[in-house]
Amino acid sequence: MSGGDKLDFEIRPNPRPVSAAERAALMANPGFGRVFTDHMVTIRYAEGKGWYDARVEARGPIPMDPATAALHYAQEIFEGLKAYHAADGGVTLFRPEANAERFVESARRMAMPALPPQVFLDALHHLIEADREWIPTADDGTLYLRPFMFASEVFLGVRPANEYLFVVIASPVGSYFSGGVKPVNVWVSPNYTRAAPGGTGAAKCGGNYASSLVAQAEAIEHDCDQVVFLDAVERKYVDELGGMNIFFVYDDGTLVTPPLTGTILPGITRDSVLTLAREEGRTVVERPVSFADWQADAASGKLREVFACGTAAVITPIGGVRFPDGEFTIADGNPGEITTGLRQRLVDLQRGRADDTHNWVHRVS
Ligand SMILES: *Cc1c(COP(=O)(O)O)cnc(C)c1O
Repeated sequence: MSGGDKLDFEIRPNPRPVSAAERAALMANPGFGRVFTDHMVTIRYAEGKGWYDARVEARGPIPMDPATAALHYAQEIFEGLKAYHAADGGVTLFRPEANAERFVESARRMAMPALPPQVFLDALHHLIEADREWIPTADDGTLYLRPFMFASEVFLGVRPANEYLFVVIASPVGSYFSGGVKPVNVWVSPNYTRAAPGGTGAAKCGGNYASSLVAQAEAIEHDCDQVVFLDAVERKYVDELGGMNIFFVYDDGTLVTPPLTGTILPGITRDSVLTLAREEGRTVVERPVSFADWQADAASGKLREVFACGTAAVITPIGGVRFPDGEFTIADGNPGEITTGLRQRLVDLQRGRADDTHNWVHRVS
């Protein structure tokens, strides 16, 4: 079937799955993104033919010609979301429809074909079904799902490819932080920016990450955990971190986050936080925050909390900020009450421990 919203998946179970004992050993301390499940989903696309050959198969190498387009001009996009064990033994996803829609948007920006959201969701369902045993049962464990798509056509011309491969792999992960939620220190990069107006900042593409790595390395050199990027035009306003959005909490309880003007990745966690905070009756404002104001408001005590948010780490308090001319802390450097409260509310929702009034929890089984 071509181009339709429904594809038949061929299920080819892995003939040599990892033994139960080995799996248990691997999952005892999985870390993040190091352990992978037995299966993967692959779906092919060809211009004129549409999406075809959807299958669940043994996870393994993808044979590739050295002239595969993605290796040269980086037509590649991805998503990241988690599968949870629900309290009743079922399996859930958190807002996967939003990931499916963002995947379409990322594809559009990178001149790639749109994968119908229903096919994206079906692919997740099939993989979870095949690798159900890999969903951690530990309280803070989840199965991280990584859908991605790249130009698989073999050619070196500069134009959108005519062939693509969509893949989903899965990785059991523990808590992003060992030993609870610790505040991180961030480095405000003086040398590098992440996204310019008209660029690819709002697309979840591998290229954005490739260009952020040298800035992240600079952060590590300065004993910081993450880099914060300023806007590319004035080098004045805060955009986001390398892979997380940012929120500022002021002494009157107001939350502020930079607006989605095309240079910021529209995070689903960001959107969930905006919704939850508004429900709590807080004033929530999407407006630019300059680095100068960040510094001044931290010094005066008007700025009480700062946190980063994204699927991988949920909500991460930011305790300290470094830049070439100095450093400062946010309040006393410890996680703030509003940050911790929002994190708990979000985790409770994701884990099915809170009333799902937004229909955010998507049941797989
Ligand atoms: C994925 C990502 C985020 C967070 O998005 P979520 O949907 O909340 O996981 C933020 N910034 C960047 C650059 C990202 O790639």
